[in-house]
Amino acid sequence: VIGCGVVGAMVAYELSQIPDLEIVVYDRRQPAQASTGAALGVLMGAISQKIKGSRLQMRLASITRYNTLIPELKALTGRKIPFNQYGILRLCFKDEDLSDWQKLAETRRSQGWQLDILGKSQLHVHYPHIQNDEITAAIYSPGDRQVDPVALTLALVEAAQQQGVKFRFGVAVEQIHAQHPVDSSFKTCQTLQTAEGAIATDWIVLAAGLGSTPLTQNLEQPIEIRPVLGQALRLKLEQPLGQPDLQPIITGEDIHLVPLEGGEYWVGATVEFAGETSRDIFPDPVALETVLQGAIAFCPALAKATIVQTWSGLRPRPQGRPAPIIGLLPGYQNVLLATGHYRNGVLLAPATAQAVRGMILGEAISV
Ligand SMILES: Cc1cc2nc3c(=O)[nH]c(=O)nc-3n(C[C@H](O)[C@H](O)[C@H](O)COP(=O)(O)OP(=O)(O)OC[C@H]3O[C@@H](n4cnc5c(N)ncnc54)[C@H](O)[C@@H]3O)c2cc1C
Repeated sequence: VIGCGVVGAMVAYELSQIPDLEIVVYDRRQPAQASTGAALGVLMGAISQKIKGSRLQMRLASITRYNTLIPELKALTGRKIPFNQYGILRLCFKDEDLSDWQKLAETRRSQGWQLDILGKSQLHVHYPHIQNDEITAAIYSPGDRQVDPVALTLALVEAAQQQGVKFRFGVAVEQIHAQHPVDSSFKTCQTLQTAEGAIATDWIVLAAGLGSTPLTQNLEQPIEIRPVLGQALRLKLEQPLGQPDLQPIITGEDIHLVPLEGGEYWVGATVEFAGETSRDIFPDPVALETVLQGAIAFCPALAKATIVQTWSGLRPRPQGRPAPIIGLLPGYQNVLLATGHYRNGVLLAPATAQAVRGMILGEAISV
């Protein structure tokens, strides 16, 4: 497995359940230091506006898996993994058509998921800290979740290690060597060139996020994945907001307010693209301020908060095709792509890992 963000770590843990597989995970850095280290871990399943299709199924399957995975990992490792099970509350502003949400709530009911539409007065009773005259209603999705992406990844690494998976951190994969057997139209990769020497492989799972592009270029099947920058903040208030037993993730105008312990909150994230000609993106302070002001606009008490931390990260976004990319690298019979998860890598990691497992066991799954 190349890459130990949330996707590579989840794949390693899932594959560790298959008897007699020898698994090694390489990361050029420490685990969860790239995109995963910046993520807010909001898991938007039922609240997503997708009505059907494989990507909706992946979202819902992932959340279902998280509900068993987190207690499983806690029991195996004894680690603390912050996991918010209060659901997601999505604010609706003027001009938004509530009848679309009513239809979606019916669809979700038929799929076994719940969405509640809260009117203004209900919202005010349960969430008095949400105050904005433009808010007309809110959609409450009790089944959706949020998880701390770094704590999760580190727990997956530890649990996979217990099952015999080996991790090589600080070791980059520099090249993948391919062979073209005469009796097959597909190429096979038999060795990885790493910073500590060559190793033989039967399968390669490419979960290297933005690092997937140079490795596939090297195999003459370039998968173009470009960075989209996201910035976020951690705020601290003297008192936590709202009722202690009602602490969902609140999301309005694509800005998430994630409650943490001790009156702290994550707020984010910006979505910043590179220019047409350059791959370099630098965090724009104006964009971050806009996100903060957007959160204050629906939750005015945040104006009094202290900013404890700000950070940014790069989301891996496939160019010219939908996220994520899961399946065999075209022309190769043993290189599996599990990459390009863009804005939903934490959400989709469990379903990605299940798909990879299915492909290695010979079940034809391609997303
Ligand atoms: C600000 C922000 C907020 C976000 N919020 C959310 C959210 O709320 N919910 C959600 O689901 N997603 C969110 N995301 C998106 C999420 O972070 C990504 O989709 C996810 O982390 C991708 O995981 P990954 O494991 O594929 O990639 P990464 O975490 O980038 O991991 C890839 C790993 O591969 C390693 N690597 C690369 N090349 C090589 C090589 N040649 N050899 C060895 N190792 C290599 C890297 O060092 C890295 O550790 C957010 C992202 C950002 C930036």
